[in-house]
Parts: sequence; C-alpha cells; structure tokens
Amino acid sequence: MRKASLLLCLLLPLAANAQQLSVDAMIDRDMASMLSTYKMLHAAPELSHREEKTSAFFAGELKKLGFTVTERLGKFENAEWTGYGVVAVMKNGNGPTVLVRTELDALPVEEKTGVPYASKVRAKNDAGVEVAVMHACGHDIHMTSLLATAKLLSELKSQWQGTLVLLGQPSEETGDGARALLKDSLYTRFPQPDFAIALHDKPDIETGKVGYTPGYAMASATSIDLNIRGIGGHGSAPETTKDPVVVAAQVVMALQTIVSRENSPLDPAVVTVGSIHGGTRYNIIPDEVNLQLTVRTYKEDVRQRILASIERIAKSAAMSAGIPADRAPIVKVSEGTTSTYNDPKLLERLTPALQRALGEENVLVKVPPMMASEDFGYLSLDHKIPATIIWLGASDPQKVKQHRETGAPLPGLHSALFAPVPESTLRTGVKATTAVVLELMKK
Ligand SMILES: [Zn+2]
Ligand SMILES: [Zn+2]
Repeated sequence: MRKASLLLCLLLPLAANAQQLSVDAMIDRDMASMLSTYKMLHAAPELSHREEKTSAFFAGELKKLGFTVTERLGKFENAEWTGYGVVAVMKNGNGPTVLVRTELDALPVEEKTGVPYASKVRAKNDAGVEVAVMHACGHDIHMTSLLATAKLLSELKSQWQGTLVLLGQPSEETGDGARALLKDSLYTRFPQPDFAIALHDKPDIETGKVGYTPGYAMASATSIDLNIRGIGGHGSAPETTKDPVVVAAQVVMALQTIVSRENSPLDPAVVTVGSIHGGTRYNIIPDEVNLQLTVRTYKEDVRQRILASIERIAKSAAMSAGIPADRAPIVKVSEGTTSTYNDPKLLERLTPALQRALGEENVLVKVPPMMASEDFGYLSLDHKIPATIIWLGASDPQKVKQHRETGAPLPGLHSALFAPVPESTLRTGVKATTAVVLELMKK
C-alpha cells in the first residue's frame, strides 16, 4: 500500500509534466501562425460598433475548428449599430458550461509604436469623424490567444467534457457591448455558463506572468451630465443676474465632500469633474454651465448614494443662490459599466492549475484592484455566475523593472506607444486559458 502510494507520488508530477510538455509542443508548432494572425489583426483594427471584418475573421477561424458559430449578435440602444458579437459553441458530452470572452474592438488612437506591423488605419467614428485606429488595449492579443486556445482544446477533447462557449464581444471600449449581447438573449439562445472567464493584458506585469485580484477588481463607471442653469446678463451688473458660474464653482468644491465626508473610507469611490464649460466672453454672465462627471464605485448601493448626493448638492447650491425652481439644475445619468467582481472561490480553484501550467513564480495571486472599468461584469449576472478576469503580463521584464526602480515611463493601455511582447505574451495567454478551461471541465 505504502509502496503503491509512493509510486503514485512519483508518477503524478511526471504525468503533469508530460501533459504540460505536449501543450508547450503544440504551442511551438502553432507559434508562427499565431504571430501572423496577431500581426494581421494588429494592422487591421476596427472601432467599437464597427467590428465587421474582425468578427467575420474570428467566426471563420472557429468554424474551421468545428465550433457551431453564430454571428452578428448584439442589440444596441442605437438601432443603427450592428451587433458584431460572435458565439462559438463546442459540445463535448455532459459537464459544465464554461464561457471564455475576448473583445473584438480597437480604439481611436494614432499608433506610434514603430513596430513593422503598426496600424495605419483611419476610419469614421460614431460621429462620422475620421480618426486613426489602433489596438491600443491589446484586444488583438486576446483574440489571437483565444483562437489558438480553441485549436488546442479542439485537439484535446479527450481531456475535457461539457460545453465550451467562446465569445467574441463587440464594443467593450464603449462599455455597451456586453449589455447589447445580453439584450440579444445571449444566455437563452446559447447555454448559460456555470463559469465565465476573460483574459486582459496588463502592461505593468511582466510578459510570462499572469495575475488576478480576488473580489472587486475594477469599478463601475457612471457618466453624469450636470446642467447648471442661472439667469444671464451683463458682467457689470451681477445684481440683475443669477450667476451659474459661481454656482458651478461651489458645486465642484462641494462634490469633493461626497467621498471625503459622506462615504465610508472602506468603500472605494471616485467623483471626478472631467469637463466644465460655460460662457462665451469676459463681460457676459452666461445662462448656464455644463459639467461632465465620472463616478467610480465597487458596490451598487454606494453608487446609488453618490448619484443622489450629486443631485442634492447641485440643487441645493442653485436654491441657495436664489435660482428659481424652474431653473433648477438638470442631472442626466448615463449608465456606464458595472463593476468587475472576481469570484474568490473560483480563483482558489484555478490557482493551482495556473501554477502548474506557468510555474508558481509566474502567478501573482493578489494584484491590487483598480478604479478603471470594464463591462465583463455584466456577463456574471450580478455575481450569480462565478466569473473572473485574469491579467496577462505583456511587457518586457527589463522595462517593468526599470519602471519600478526609476519610474521610467511604461506605456499603459490606450497609449499610442503600447506594444506588448507578442510571442511570450501569446504563449502565456494560451497556456493560462487552456489550463483554466481544462481545470473547470476536466474529466
Ligand atoms: Zn481598453
Ligand atoms: Zn481592453
């Protein structure tokens, strides 16, 4: 008995190694084609709401691998926009349903990386204005990594069971893509997942590593338009006016007390006034001032409380300035994105699998959370479906080291200079995603 278990102990790491070797060998075999796919996608980025060619390519590749593919999914508020969502399903016996998401869209950024495959694309944005376009958020890395993972998993069908759902999500950058998919009955037309996974590159983590944040990882984002109305007049005769510039100034200062005085220090929140516009010249008191705010929180009740505070502060400042009730401020709240909550139990389960695949030192288990936002959270249906985003290191380790030691700039996401290291980032992305899916769907 003792001998047998000793033998088992000796054999287990060998078996794990053999399996790992074969995944590595498969990645080696496919690397040249992965790199050419990545460079092709990088050189041909498309803006949110316009991912026509990208989605067709993504769908075509998955069809070749034997997935059942549905294209043009997603219903936006603006009915003129086509939903370019792609859902690819592979059924492989009884077992859990696992969804893995990639985004399809790029950004209105003019690329300045100087890489040979840099984008020179210009295209019209939603407003009809021509802009430069770049995959400055690495969604080309995510697509390539997911396609290569799909190929491996279609060859490794004897090692997993259940239903694999690969999702090409449009319009992540505009924050409305995941909602558009759900509005188009994503989870009734296709199997609702038991787990949802996404990979996102992160420039401040070294390529070769992954990391994650258990619990709240990214904030919800809400945009607010605040229209402060007064009664305009001559700049030399303030007594005949109700000056909205002064009220706006008071409101901007009073808004600072929401986070500092009304909110628990244990609940992260941000209220930022990003834009303020009023008036036309020196000696005219304008009729109105317009402000644009962003609010970031993790918890929904905190978000609701902050939105109510903004309205209360704006209205009371106008009232105390003597602005009549029919000229009270107008507060318009636009839904942005929900927060991203990484299910801690799911991450506990995935950690050993990722450590086996990548080496313990390459798995950072507690990356600090951020107040940036992402719309992947919607796919968890308010935390009902265990979900997680896994950060994929993307930068040259030497540059990350220099950045940490000397503060040397390291181009971040959405930067015109963001250039992930393709080969090892793709390799790590494929290994990590394969390990996660095989863990969740193992036989
Ligand atoms: Zn982005
Ligand atoms: Zn992104």
